[in-house]
Amino acid sequence: LENIAERADKMNVVGQMAVSVAHEIRNPLTTVRGYLQFIAYKKGDKALESCYEILIEELDRANDIISEYLLLAKEKRAKLQYCSLNKVIHAIYPLLETLATADKAAIRLQLAPVPDVLLDENEIRQLLLNLVRNAIEAMAHKGGLVQIRTYKEAEQVVLAISDNGPGIPAHLVEQLGTPFLTTKDTGTGLGLSICYRIVHRHGAVMKVKTDPAGTEFLIYFKLPV
Ligand code: ADP
Ligand code: MG
Repeated sequence: LENIAERADKMNVVGQMAVSVAHEIRNPLTTVRGYLQFIAYKKGDKALESCYEILIEELDRANDIISEYLLLAKEKRAKLQYCSLNKVIHAIYPLLETLATADKAAIRLQLAPVPDVLLDENEIRQLLLNLVRNAIEAMAHKGGLVQIRTYKEAEQVVLAISDNGPGIPAHLVEQLGTPFLTTKDTGTGLGLSICYRIVHRHGAVMKVKTDPAGTEFLIYFKLPV
């Protein structure tokens, strides 16, 4: 069990990514996407439709990358308010379930009644999305199980996201949090970096437990004093 929260500091390296450029690129991408869908629909040609599908997937991927940069580059402080972690999980659950189902994975919630903690709801949604996405990708269509748990431990509220994928090799665990670190063909290597930064902003701590039977990311939130 290793504490990797301080690695959020590494994020300053990419903190100054061109936010305005990202904004400028996203608008034309959205327009192109809309027109592509319109053309695909008009043509009614199966072969063309599959080309458009690929184009749209690639556009969506470009958009994903931009989204990750945007969040990353934001230097604003998190808007922390006392709220229910379980409520945030329920709010994003439909999206997580859709992602899991698309990759033949199951997703299960085990939420204990936990006290409210200081949260930025948007950031916690992003954190859940990035961690669950990694969990699903780790199980690569093998139909694994993602579990999201909350519970109280000592004077902390714990959020745990686990999978039964192949685990993370020791040499990689040491580097987690480094921007652009990826083992995936089409990975951005930004997902975890963003998670560390979010955790850091919350004054929380993230730990990872991993072995060849699976991986679990645990985030420890402080209770109000
Ligand atoms: P990306 O998903 O784009 O590769 P991330 O920052 O989200 O970037 O993850 C970095 C790397 O950490 C991944 O490429 C993968 O090798 C490893 N990783 C992260 N989460 C898991 C997990 N749950 N199981 C196995 N490996 C993981
Ligand atoms: Mg990822």
